[in-house]
Amino acid sequence: MLNLVLFGPPGAGKGTQSAFLVERYHLVHLSTGDLFRYNIKNETELGVLAKSYMAKGQLVPDSVTISMLEDAVNKNPEANGFIFDGFPRTNAQAAALDAFLNSQDTGITSMIALEAPEAELRVRLAERAKTSGRPDDADPAVIQNRIDVYNNETAPVKAFYEAQGKYKGINGVGSIEEITERLVAIIDTL
Ligand code: AMP
Repeated sequence: MLNLVLFGPPGAGKGTQSAFLVERYHLVHLSTGDLFRYNIKNETELGVLAKSYMAKGQLVPDSVTISMLEDAVNKNPEANGFIFDGFPRTNAQAAALDAFLNSQDTGITSMIALEAPEAELRVRLAERAKTSGRPDDADPAVIQNRIDVYNNETAPVKAFYEAQGKYKGINGVGSIEEITERLVAIIDTL
């Protein structure tokens, strides 16, 4: 199996690049943000809970997020592999993902991080707000909170994969095609 963690701050391009990688490598794309938004749209209990955190740019608690992700993996028993987008976002999530995948005799192949300066992220998110319909893209204070949460709680997850020799960072600034090429150059060596 090819199991990739596509990592990076909000606005780094994880969702955009996932769409290309899914097609090229025949993987299942699992975005925890998309799963939460689906639940919000369908007004599930999980959606109601998630909404209160997402609206403020805070992380949804680990226990709920981890079990939602595990359910989504279990729903795809035939998958060649997965792109995890927006997960793991804490070291506890990373450890839970390892344990879960190990129990299924598989594991994370690599974490690839899209790196981009904060000023660029703010511009991209403001631009995305015009079409995404996402309330958390529309409010500069919420965007700042998401960037802060990334720096404080999520960035340490890099070290988790670095310790396993699985971390690869790439420059996330450039055209969509250029960044896809950089990703493909790495994935083809895995
Ligand atoms: P995203 O679509 O990845 O930008 O995520 C949007 C929001 O969903 C985040 O700001 C969090 O509130 C929530 N979220 C998504 N993934 C996670 C996760 N792995 N852990 C906790 N909260 C998450």
